[in-house]
Amino acid sequence: MSRRTAVVTGASAGIGEATARALAAAGYEVVVGARRTERLQAIAEEIGARALELDVRDEASVERFATAAGAAEVLVNNAGLSRGLDPVARTLSEHWIEMYETNVLGAMRVARAFIPRLVESGNGHLVNVGSTAGFEVYPGGAGYTASKHGLRALTRTLRLELLGEPVRVTEVSPGLVETEFSQVRFDGDAERARAVYAGMRPLTAADVAECVVWVLARPAHVNIDEIVVRPRDQATSTAVYRRP
Ligand code: NAP
Repeated sequence: MSRRTAVVTGASAGIGEATARALAAAGYEVVVGARRTERLQAIAEEIGARALELDVRDEASVERFATAAGAAEVLVNNAGLSRGLDPVARTLSEHWIEMYETNVLGAMRVARAFIPRLVESGNGHLVNVGSTAGFEVYPGGAGYTASKHGLRALTRTLRLELLGEPVRVTEVSPGLVETEFSQVRFDGDAERARAVYAGMRPLTAADVAECVVWVLARPAHVNIDEIVVRPRDQATSTAVYRRP
């Protein structure tokens, strides 16, 4: 029997990397995409995946990526980022544009390119990596939460539009996960990034990858619409238990 092919975007780090590793270990043929191709290539070699350059903000890059990837049964739309934590009164338009371009338009472009292949496979599955920011808000987070609310709207619309097709649609929405996410948000400020997880135990990227693998492993007639997964130390975006 031929192996199922899974495409993972944003797999050069964090949740995408962990998901690519978990899917390869589960027997999938894996195709990974991201901008930092050296890192991506090293990960791909380790797990026997195929690495392809991808910038989800760039239509032509997404088209090249999809063409080179070929047929696919699974798409994990994970590439994403946050920028800044300033209140709206002081926020930078560039941050909002980058988040919207990546988290909403990027996810749409990749989904659009792969939907015909997922349908064609006869047993497709599209997993969007959302966030608790897709249905909650917090001070300073408007740009990121607006983008993840947008992604959630995309996921829910696809669930309706693909009804009747052999394609499942899922959103996995994590709370705090310790990855490079906060370093990117704070422009490389490692100390500020560390403070996000101070005194609490965050999720690991592997914890989230396990959710993705579990969702995919359900029988074909079972659609897990969404998974919300948080650390035990976090009840909402703003209610975080920190040990002194
Ligand atoms: P991360 O460690 O910073 O990884 C982000 C990944 O996205 C990297 O591989 C990065 O690769 C890729 N990426 C960013 N912009 C891209 C672009 N324009 N084109 C292609 N790839 C791009 O962060 P992470 O925590 O794993 O984040 C993964 C997803 O989980 C994101 O959608 C994020 O919003 C979501 N999430 C994270 C958390 C958290 O607390 N960490 C919580 C909820 C949801 P390159 O830079 O090499 O392109």
